[in-house]
Amino acid sequence: MNIVGHLINGEIRCDAASTQAVYNPSTGEVTKQVALASVATVEEAIACAQAAFPAWRDTTPIKRARIMFKFKQLLEQHAEHICELIGEEHGKISHDAAGELARGIENIEYACGVPELLKGEHSCNVGPNIDSWSEFQPLGVVAGITPFNFPAMVPLWMYPMAIACGNTFILKPSERDPSSTLYIAHLAKEAGLPDGVLNVVNGNKEAVDTLLNDVRVKAVSFVGSTPIAEYIYSTANANGKRCQALGGAKNHAIVMPDADMDNAVNQLLGAAFGSSGERCMALSVAVAVGDVAADALVAKMQQAMKGLNVGAFSDKSNDFGPVITAEHRNKVCGFIDSAEADGALVVVDGRQVQVEGYENGFFVGGTLIDNVTPEMDSYREEIFGPVLQVVRVQAMEEAMQLINDHEYGNGTCIFTRDGEAARYFSDNIQVGMVGINVPLPVPVAYHSFGGWKRSLFGDLHAYGPDAVRFYTKRKTITQRWPSAGVREGATFAFPS
Ligand code: NAD
Repeated sequence: MNIVGHLINGEIRCDAASTQAVYNPSTGEVTKQVALASVATVEEAIACAQAAFPAWRDTTPIKRARIMFKFKQLLEQHAEHICELIGEEHGKISHDAAGELARGIENIEYACGVPELLKGEHSCNVGPNIDSWSEFQPLGVVAGITPFNFPAMVPLWMYPMAIACGNTFILKPSERDPSSTLYIAHLAKEAGLPDGVLNVVNGNKEAVDTLLNDVRVKAVSFVGSTPIAEYIYSTANANGKRCQALGGAKNHAIVMPDADMDNAVNQLLGAAFGSSGERCMALSVAVAVGDVAADALVAKMQQAMKGLNVGAFSDKSNDFGPVITAEHRNKVCGFIDSAEADGALVVVDGRQVQVEGYENGFFVGGTLIDNVTPEMDSYREEIFGPVLQVVRVQAMEEAMQLINDHEYGNGTCIFTRDGEAARYFSDNIQVGMVGINVPLPVPVAYHSFGGWKRSLFGDLHAYGPDAVRFYTKRKTITQRWPSAGVREGATFAFPS
């Protein structure tokens, strides 16, 4: 059987002492094995990245940017194949995979501007004949650890900018859908990236812990679930590394009584069920303000969901595909069971869905649950499936309090026609990414992405301007050239 290996020092390697099954979630079949890197393999990748660093650091930013240009072109050229690989192992439909890849490529486009982004700051005459400037130097070997739900995009949030800034990189992707990630990294080599600058090690906790504990790794970017994000952040910090660790989410949409309800329903459909709800920005809770709005929302949503198509990734007419594994399907259905047992009303039930010809696939149909309350497990925890829960409140303040009290603070949205309410909401809500009539307010590549509260551990957000700061360290230089023959005596106080 095909084994997905590693990319170390420019070579695809199958270090297959230990492997794990990779599924096609649409059929439920094991299609490949992924190699799980041993400690020795990860250490070898770190050594290669370390060896590649001095020459890469000294490569001019414009030359690094030219490789990024070529890399972008290659990804566009091979987009269809990449989307096929994503679909086979993740299960998302090709239009969704294409969207993910496009958003990933935008990060490479931003990295193409690295000569401008690294220009630094300069001040002339900070003292008599004294100049001072700050420059941004790469850190060295940096690592990225990524989740299954965006196997192309999330790695591209990290390494194009890290590498463009002059670092060398080790990526530890999700072991559940590794093929597109490895293929894309290999295209970076084809684009002209010197061997050792970008390395990919597939693996599990052992590989991650090796990266976290190795002194040669200077910084770690992580995206995944909150318990692991917290572990990565605290371990990396204890080991003296810079770390940004993005975690899970529970994104609420407030539906105000004055909202354009048809528009809100359409937007919620895509944002709750797209990609089977396996997005950290998925809207999984609709907070309806007032029973009139709630009744209208539930009735219209129930009607609209009759048109939802769930099925295999290969059929472009489907709206969304399976979830990632059989265990995850059981977990999602378990949350629906628990909401029902806790007294919520399952209005549309996706638990028993069958897809003809794909009876063993890991499918969950779109599910709508009404009368959910904040004490329920299904409300408190991230479900990460095609499940939209409706919570009923009587006032906007009450809706905002719910959101502010939730442990997660990744994304949120308000549907309203009232500009004053929208402004009050965006100003006061304790969430990192806010939409106003925009259901998935994912920042574009030239802003930065990150949640608040337990959705992000660290100070800097992912990609965009924050990534330039995360992947570099500031050095400030103060310079004076004494005039010939003029020498000052010693001074014992700060010059003023
Ligand atoms: P996960 O936390 O299970 O895995 C993420 C990565 O951590 C993988 O590479 C995995 O191999 C590694 N890992 C898993 N367990 C580990 C352990 N015990 N020790 C060390 N490393 C470990 O996440 P997932 O299931 O792949 O992805 C889904 C989660 O990611 C959801 O919670 C989702 O909200 C979150 N996510 C967040 C964002 C964001 O930007 N905030 C984006 C995408 C996904």
